[in-house]
Amino acid sequence: MKTLFSEAQILVKVEELGKIISNDYRDKEILLLGVLKGSFLFFADLARSINGNIQVQFIQAESYGSSAQSSGHVKLNFNKNIVIQGKHIIIVEDIIDTGLTLHKIIETIQAESPLSLSVCTLLIKKNKINSIDFKLYHGFEIEDYFVVGYGLDFNEQYRCLRDIKILEN
Ligand code: 5GP
Repeated sequence: MKTLFSEAQILVKVEELGKIISNDYRDKEILLLGVLKGSFLFFADLARSINGNIQVQFIQAESYGSSAQSSGHVKLNFNKNIVIQGKHIIIVEDIIDTGLTLHKIIETIQAESPLSLSVCTLLIKKNKINSIDFKLYHGFEIEDYFVVGYGLDFNEQYRCLRDIKILEN
C-alpha cells in the first residue's frame, strides 16, 4: 500500500492543530468528544498537544460496516450520562467523507445545549469543505481515496499502522 502521510508528517500536523486549538480556547475548559473507533490514535495525540484544561469523552458511530463505501446509515451510540450542557465541546473525528456521520453527531450534541461546538478532523475528502456549516479544524485535505492506518480501518484491519496509507483494491 502506498503511504499518503508518514507518522512524522501526521505528528507535525497534529501539533499544529493542538497549538491552534490551545490558542482559540485559552482560559476555557474543553470537553473533547472522540468519535470511536477511527479517531482513537488521533484523539490521544491531539489531547496531549492541547495546552489547557481538557476533559475527554467518547461516542461511537458506525456507517461503513465492512465495506469501503458509506452505507448512508449512521448508527450512534451516545451515553446520555455524558454532560454536554454548558460546555465547550470539540468533536474529534478521523475523517469526513460524505459528512453524514458528523451531521448526525452534531444534531445529537446540539440537542444537549453545549456552550459552544466545533469539530476537529484529521482528514477531510476534497470538495467537502464548502458544504461545512460549523466551526471546523482540519488537518489534511485528501483526494477521494479510501485510506487506512493511524486509527482508520478496513474491516477492522490496519488500524494500528503508524502511517496513513491508501487501500488499493
Ligand atoms: P461520512 O459519514 O463522512 O461519509 O463517513 C465518516 C466515517 O466513515 C468516518 O468517521 C470513518 O469511520 C469512515 N470513513 C470515511 N472515509 C473513510 C476512509 O477513507 N477510510 C476509512 N478507513 N474510513 C473512512
